[in-house]
Amino acid sequence: MGSLNFYERFSRTFRENPSLSRFLVVFAVSGGGLVAYSEANIQTSPKIDELPEPGNDKKKVVVLGTGWAGTSFLKNLKNPSYDVQVISPRNYFAFTPLLPSVTVGTVEARSVVEPIRNIVKKKNVNVNYWEAECYRIDAKSKKIYCRSSQDDKEEFVVDYDYLVVAMGARVNTFNTPGVEENCHYLKEVEDAQKIRRKVIDCFEKASLPNLSDDEKRRVLQFVVVGGGPTGVEFAAELHDFVSEDLVKLYPSVKDLVKITLLEATDHILNMFDKRITTFAEEKFHRDGIDLKTGEMVTKVSEKEISTKVIKTGEVSTIPYGMAVWSTGIATRPVIMDFMKQIGQANRRVLATDEWLRVEGTNSIYALGDCATINQRKVMEDISAIFEKADKDKSGTLTVKEFQEALDDICDRYPQVQIYLKNKHMSNLVDLLQESKGDVSKESIELNVEQFKSALSQVDSQMKNLPATAQVAAQQGSYLADCFNRMEDCTKSPEGPLRFRESGRHRFRPFRYKHLGQFAPLGGEQTAAQLPGDWVSIGHSSQWLWYSVYASKQVSWRTRSLVVSDWMRRFIFGRDSSQI
Ligand code: FAD
Ligand code: MG
Repeated sequence: MGSLNFYERFSRTFRENPSLSRFLVVFAVSGGGLVAYSEANIQTSPKIDELPEPGNDKKKVVVLGTGWAGTSFLKNLKNPSYDVQVISPRNYFAFTPLLPSVTVGTVEARSVVEPIRNIVKKKNVNVNYWEAECYRIDAKSKKIYCRSSQDDKEEFVVDYDYLVVAMGARVNTFNTPGVEENCHYLKEVEDAQKIRRKVIDCFEKASLPNLSDDEKRRVLQFVVVGGGPTGVEFAAELHDFVSEDLVKLYPSVKDLVKITLLEATDHILNMFDKRITTFAEEKFHRDGIDLKTGEMVTKVSEKEISTKVIKTGEVSTIPYGMAVWSTGIATRPVIMDFMKQIGQANRRVLATDEWLRVEGTNSIYALGDCATINQRKVMEDISAIFEKADKDKSGTLTVKEFQEALDDICDRYPQVQIYLKNKHMSNLVDLLQESKGDVSKESIELNVEQFKSALSQVDSQMKNLPATAQVAAQQGSYLADCFNRMEDCTKSPEGPLRFRESGRHRFRPFRYKHLGQFAPLGGEQTAAQLPGDWVSIGHSSQWLWYSVYASKQVSWRTRSLVVSDWMRRFIFGRDSSQI
């Protein structure tokens, strides 16, 4: 009885004082020599049901999606003047960077998810969640058509004043025949769980007594399609699982296992520094992972994958037991339908402006993987910029005039700033000199044609942001910040000058801050590419990876679960039960 009381009190103390769990995790992680720190986000606030009914004057904000972008928006929204409705078929947030670890049980599925209702328990913002998918957005009448995720698939309609579209993307199969029917994806938690079961299934099947060696070899042939970070990390995790855990349990078939990684371009991890690509390729060769680059998949049947060498056109087939398809993302059908409605039918991805507002609408925002920012070109506005900057209306621009407008120009067109930085040009004088030649600094005056030619190369610096959790999360918190300060910024706009119209933009445009990128390569080795092209590869980066991923967890609950999963794996290995 006494011990029961102790446990009850212990668990209640932690639930009621979540900050205490910080000590628990710091204690646990510092055992490995590193301490991860992050702000606790669990709040002890009233339940959603207990919140007062929203007043009629509240603006209705509908958020579609509970992934990285939607959750980050909800976590950071603090302004009580909104009535928020969240619609998503998934009632939880999933920490996708750990999904490859879930596929082999390095981390358990429930350790990387957090119920959205836990996340939105806010003190003063009214948030309701509905488990449903949106199947149509009607921008004209400001309505969202939804279908419940329950068996009855009940349909309902929701009105909005502001809509935040954060639906993510779907897997891109490039219409390759047989992929949908025969390949596993690695996009959702359920996908990772299915892969985990299938891997064990293959080992159990290959261990049955009546199979020929060829058939055993086929069943234990694992094919990963796509050499991006997800495919590479999955191949590495699978290799670790096999070599560290499964070889001990399935000694009779261990020599028949083969992991093949197929990549259509010439190298894996294309988006990383060349040093990382080379290290990863060499490590995979050493580990015995069969790397086939420059080969694309043309067809997948139940037991065979057909491939073609891109340069020579040579065709071959690989008999396989399990295939994982991880080649990138495509737009969801509901978004494509929406794009047609708003005049974006000819685009591949939903386009927003730099404030994340969907082009062609005025109260719909889109963020994360489902959208891309269509950065305005300097050249589209060049005459207007010239006119605004030419304060004395002399028809020419002096250095001084341009420099006075430069902050606003850089704010509005970040490519100008990148251009100045990349070319190591600290000010306009250098920029102008490059195009004009030998002129003394003070007396430079440009007419509009010269101005155009000085800036003609600037737009080539524009790059689309990658479809990553980092971008999605930053966009979510940026948009929440705009919503939090909507009234203040409407009264006193803080954005750059409007070059084509009068006044200023209400907010500063979204600006992405790249914090670095990891590529775990297995065997407790990770490649890290940090800002400033600082590259680190090996065991020390693996500890950095553990530390960063522990600190980035959405709650202290998942943080402690993930850390304890890692410790369990170190001590006992991964579990290979078929459940
Ligand atoms: P998602 O996170 O995909 O969320 C979309 C949400 O919309 C979900 O809640 C979904 O249920 C919901 N939804 C779908 N359809 C509808 C509908 N019709 N109506 C309403 N809601 C809907 N990025 C990194 O930066 N670092 C990494 O290490 C990394 N690793 C990754 C590993 C894996 C295995 C995967 C799959 C991705 C990884 N990413 C990583 C990419 C990252 O997960 C995505 O860029 C990120 O999830 C995008 O966020 P999002 O909110 O746009 O979409
Ligand atoms: Mg002038």
